[in-house]
Amino acid sequence: MKHAFAALSGALLVASCAVPTREQNMVGRAVEAMGGAERLAALKTVTFKGKAKFWEPEQSDVPGGEPRFIVDAPFEGIYDSSSRALRIDWDKNMAYIPRSFKYSEIVTPAAGYVVGVDSSARNAQSLQSSPPAHTMSGPRLAAAQRELARGAVTGLVLAMHRNPGKMQPAADLGGKPAVSFGGFIVSFDPATGLPARVRTLDYDNIWGDVDFDYVYSDWRDIDGVRIPLTRRYELNGRTVQEITFAEVRYNQPVDSARLQIPPAALAGAAKPATRNVPYQWVLRRQYVGFYMDSEHLSYDARASPGLRLQEIAPGVHQVQGGTHNSLVVEMSDHLIVLDAPVTDAQSLWLVGQTRARFPGKPIRWLALTHHHMDHAGGLRGILAEGATLVVGEGAGAHFRRVLAAPMTRNPDLPARSFHMTPILEVPESHVMSDAAGRQVIVYVMDNPHAKGMLMGWVPHARLGFVSDVWTPGPPLPARPNPGLASVVNAVKRAGLQPERFAGGHGSVADYRMLTRLVAQ
Ligand SMILES: [Zn+2]
Repeated sequence: MKHAFAALSGALLVASCAVPTREQNMVGRAVEAMGGAERLAALKTVTFKGKAKFWEPEQSDVPGGEPRFIVDAPFEGIYDSSSRALRIDWDKNMAYIPRSFKYSEIVTPAAGYVVGVDSSARNAQSLQSSPPAHTMSGPRLAAAQRELARGAVTGLVLAMHRNPGKMQPAADLGGKPAVSFGGFIVSFDPATGLPARVRTLDYDNIWGDVDFDYVYSDWRDIDGVRIPLTRRYELNGRTVQEITFAEVRYNQPVDSARLQIPPAALAGAAKPATRNVPYQWVLRRQYVGFYMDSEHLSYDARASPGLRLQEIAPGVHQVQGGTHNSLVVEMSDHLIVLDAPVTDAQSLWLVGQTRARFPGKPIRWLALTHHHMDHAGGLRGILAEGATLVVGEGAGAHFRRVLAAPMTRNPDLPARSFHMTPILEVPESHVMSDAAGRQVIVYVMDNPHAKGMLMGWVPHARLGFVSDVWTPGPPLPARPNPGLASVVNAVKRAGLQPERFAGGHGSVADYRMLTRLVAQ
């Protein structure tokens, strides 16, 4: 029997060499349509200019509403195929939360490097270097390398052509025939033979299993090579990035020094991460300008000793040490958690802490200040404890859809159904109390940041909790802004007399500082 199998598989191997497969035919046709293998292989350098637009669906004003427009940014770049090194120079004047980032990214097979400031959440390496620069974390480098592979479409199609053994059949994508190759599912336009769409099967902290697609269009002939001058990233069919090339030139002389990472930086640089890389999350956090470039998704791994659960009032604990915080209130026989930020990994850490410190007290309520991905991305990790989800007015239907989505690719939690999770939508305010009379109250607040936002209130501690409208702890700005004013208005409207506020960012601060500023 064994011999028969060996003979059979040998025969199949011979057959597959002799007769091109459907996949080989499709790729062969694409290579020809793009200019032929010889021309594609002769592309040594590419210099380019263009503009990229970015949107973020999970920073929308309304839960589940229109994606937030982030920035329309010009870029210039060079790619050298012999060293497989890419440099992109960005000039981003952000439309969402106005600020400017002018920086360069260098991506090589060995390491990644950022010159300049590219985020509001700078890591220690960036802050300590002058002028600002830092090496890319393993997750960021892995994400950049993956996207370089599908961005350089001539290289991708040529790699498929040269490695027929690595191609597998795939189901049609959007009605177009497709081939699976190295983690990508590549569809081809039957009319032109050109590649149409490259899909990866990613995970999203809000939407669970997601399709992350790179879509080619506007094919043009440049020096006998056809390439798409417009590309689009789609997350479950919604556009999150659109790239338009204004100029592409081949085989121009390039200054190789501009593609080099300084040797001192290279020595300590991270290798590309290989396990559980949250690719599209890493990219989208960069789009929105809040990415903390770190091996750990929750804190700066080179600067913070990690997350800690800090008691800030009797029975009231704040997660500190990371980019985003939760608040935990100890009740007589259970716990209440406000916000489930970043990832389920952060939530699992929090659940581990609460089990050790408050044995026998399950998390019964998870209240989210708002629906944005960075404050809600760990919701499943907390809800898996059996908690009821508490959200502001208008967010219930959104979270019902979120929790009905499949989550089989979650790196932190085994697949299970969350569609029966109880959701409580708060119309104005909601009181959660225990037998001893301790209370936590959430109030829907008018604010400029997100519809249906909740403010938390812990009466016995005279402590409020807000996210993104005030960051308690760091110095207040010289002048009040609409976010800060909205906190004071919400406090007045609810008739509260807070002593302090804790935040989903920052730490804890005296409330009087805020009233003094806003009264100006
Ligand atoms: Zn937000």
